Amino acid sequence: MKFNNKLENIKTYEAGKPIELVVREFGIEAKDIVKLASNENPYGCAPKVKEAVVKIVSNMALYPDDSMAKLKTALSDRFCINEENLIIGSGSDQVIEFIMHAKADADSKILINSVTFAMYEIYAKHIGASIIRTASREHNLDEFYELYTSEKPDIIFLCTPNNPTGDAIDATSMMDFMAKIDENTLVVVDGAYMEYAAFKDEKKAVSPKELIEKFNNVVYLGTFSKAYGLGGMRVGYGISNSKIIKELYKLRPPFNITTLSLEAASVAVEDEDFVNNCISLCFSEMKRYEEFATKQKIDIIESYTNFVTLCLNKNSNSNRYLMPCFVKE
Ligand SMILES: *Cc1c(COP(=O)(O)O)cnc(C)c1O
Repeated sequence: MKFNNKLENIKTYEAGKPIELVVREFGIEAKDIVKLASNENPYGCAPKVKEAVVKIVSNMALYPDDSMAKLKTALSDRFCINEENLIIGSGSDQVIEFIMHAKADADSKILINSVTFAMYEIYAKHIGASIIRTASREHNLDEFYELYTSEKPDIIFLCTPNNPTGDAIDATSMMDFMAKIDENTLVVVDGAYMEYAAFKDEKKAVSPKELIEKFNNVVYLGTFSKAYGLGGMRVGYGISNSKIIKELYKLRPPFNITTLSLEAASVAVEDEDFVNNCISLCFSEMKRYEEFATKQKIDIIESYTNFVTLCLNKNSNSNRYLMPCFVKE
């Protein structure tokens, strides 16, 4: 059978290996496995969130509230924005998909960092758009600007902090960069790990409110999958001016967020203490990795996220570096 030829050079997204598969393949008990592959919060979600979900779990017959009133109120309070500035996706992945379809077509160029989140490229390929990458491993806004000028992309993705490198852009540099971009080029600021960066260094804290007040051509993305410990619930959001949000809404399937997910995310937003406590624990545990890397003379990239990148050279096999503290005798 012939399929859409755009699919020919798309590689299927390879998700981090789930615990269930490790149990099956290696016969290790689930309780002895620490999953590090998808950057979730190892401490899970706030107890209040679980209680709230359990309370409504008996009521599944009706479709979810498609206005998403409770979650939109919670998010607009948190970010001091209006509900018309919000779109909720089944993960921020889905919002990236809406953005790509809303703004780009087969003639478009999409500018991204040399190494960054895989879904930008995958969604670009869905519509046949081409990908332009910067050269440096970490975000270099001068390189982004140069390529913006020469290549005239339709969309620029800035992932801060970046997955998988963990580096983050200074908020003031981001604002200066935005000011040089014309209104018809859409800039997407993916803040999937922004909670971590803001906790560690306020200079890295990008404010979605300030972004959308100053610029008409920006979408800020956030997610509940990382710091909020709700990866299994698939909830993410986009924040932008109401005109852009209206366009993105045209691409949204109805009822794209389940009743349970809406409830979980709404309650999670309210418990900032829980999230900050998890972030603090993550950064203190990360010190063990950093010390280990220093001892083994492995370079690391300073991390503003819940993971740290070890820079192994071409000849090293990561299996050789199993952390002694994690290997059970
Ligand atoms: C995890 C992640 C997302 C999307 O997560 P969802 O679970 O789809 O909300 C988006 N961007 C980056 C950089 C991520 O690491």
